[in-house]
Amino acid sequence: MKIRAGFVSNSSSSSFVCDICGREEGGWDITLEEAVMASCENNHIFCQDHILNTQDEIDLVLEAIYSNADRAEEFRDYLKCNDYTPEDIKGSKGKYIIFKYTEEFCWDLPFSICPLCNLKGISRHDVLMLLRKLTGLHTDEDVLKKLEELGINSYKDFREWLKA
Ligand SMILES: [Zn+2]
Ligand SMILES: [Zn+2]
Repeated sequence: MKIRAGFVSNSSSSSFVCDICGREEGGWDITLEEAVMASCENNHIFCQDHILNTQDEIDLVLEAIYSNADRAEEFRDYLKCNDYTPEDIKGSKGKYIIFKYTEEFCWDLPFSICPLCNLKGISRHDVLMLLRKLTGLHTDEDVLKKLEELGINSYKDFREWLKA
């Protein structure tokens, strides 16, 4: 968490929750970078730990970066500013370089990097959407009616029903 000297009147509390593992990081004016998280172009949010763990993933990231003209230019600038040569991004040093790049530019990563966009993980929200569709229980009213049908009349009943 960021430590601030003095009182900053326009700061506000915010937090980020990983759509994959549920890790939550909060604080005053915390940024995605400080939370060690990243987001994709479809607004998924996830820990940086969940990405770039295999050479295939690294290659996908490079492909995605170079297939977008703006991003490719941004990436080339980043390499230049840090004195990296194109050869450096191959091999084991590549992961480190790309990781530093995503740490600095961790918003709106291409969907090819995102585990959720590639169905290697699923968010609680999407699990709920799936179950609503499969069960036909689209609204809270539908769910409450279903509980009644099942003879569940209290929260205690509900907890016991879940465990049975
Ligand atoms: Zn996570
Ligand atoms: Zn995504």
